[in-house]
Amino acid sequence: MHTQLLPALPEHIALGGKLLQSGQLVGFPTETVYGLGANALDAEAVRQIFIAKGRPQDNPLIVHVACPDDAESLCHVSSTARKLMDAFWPGPLTLVMPKKATVPEVTSAGLSSVGVRCPAHPVALALIRAAGVPVAAPSANTSGRPSPTCARHVYEDMQNRIPLILDGGDCQVGVESTVLSVTGDTPVILRPGKVTQLEIAQVTGKCLIADSVMRPLREGESAPSPGMKHRHYAPRGNMTIVQGTDEKKVVATLKRMYLSSENACILCHENLLAAFPGMRVFSLGNSPEDTARVLFSLLRDMDALKISRILCQGWDTGGVGLAVMNRMARAASFDIIEAE
Ligand code: AMP
Ligand code: MG
Repeated sequence: MHTQLLPALPEHIALGGKLLQSGQLVGFPTETVYGLGANALDAEAVRQIFIAKGRPQDNPLIVHVACPDDAESLCHVSSTARKLMDAFWPGPLTLVMPKKATVPEVTSAGLSSVGVRCPAHPVALALIRAAGVPVAAPSANTSGRPSPTCARHVYEDMQNRIPLILDGGDCQVGVESTVLSVTGDTPVILRPGKVTQLEIAQVTGKCLIADSVMRPLREGESAPSPGMKHRHYAPRGNMTIVQGTDEKKVVATLKRMYLSSENACILCHENLLAAFPGMRVFSLGNSPEDTARVLFSLLRDMDALKISRILCQGWDTGGVGLAVMNRMARAASFDIIEAE
């Protein structure tokens, strides 16, 4: 199948809407990462997503709507969920709610709940409206690879697998949405993102974080969010995260590891770039928000450069730092060390 990569002009968005209506897949930008969309109510179309990505069947998809009211046909919306929609939609927050029968089993991977989000990206919203149906869309990467934050990344992974990719430039957030379960009494973050625990608690009073967010699942442990148990975001090189508040120790540790490795690369905060003269080093920016924007793209660059050892400085897990560290930790298969 030939893949068209087109700028997200109105006529191309209209074409995307028609393709979605006819059961085909479209790659499109959101403010978090690029999505791979299909009509969420068409089980056969949704099956094509799993095939195109090589995604495990037990990993549910997030359903995207153009306005909060459109969630009502998909799931039971509690008063807490409504408050959160009012506060954060359109935006990078997915709400997991009890599903209605309209949502096919394949979309929710057999779960009795469904994740729903209203994205804050004009192209995503226009595409959903053009389709006239809710759009199931996971990240538009091959399963296991870093999520795509620009149209070129989608093309790398999806060329000849889908008919259309809409190019809307670089994603502003760069990591996937916060996934929040509101099926119980207290909201629980299943996957951290741009919308933080503190921001949610300001609306709901309380907000918990699933404890498997920053550790690997134990053997036999069932995942509160199925995506947690799969290998994710992984570059081909062997990655280690170096943590620590003492910058001298962080620099010394990164240097030592770099010099004892073949074909290595350092990813560090902007202010430490000059500390590694003559070494291969890239900037993670000045804040967790900066790192969120560039992380997946850098991990793809590591693959393109055939780097075999990736030495990456971490962030504190406060605020958006938790989302960044959650992705980094998975990319590094939880190989995290303290600088010394
Ligand atoms: P992706 O679309 O690639 O960002 O992945 C979506 C992630 O959202 C999945 O991997 C799940 O972990 C999570 N998710 C979606 N729907 C549900 C649900 N009903 N219950 C729990 N987690 C969900
Ligand atoms: Mg994904």
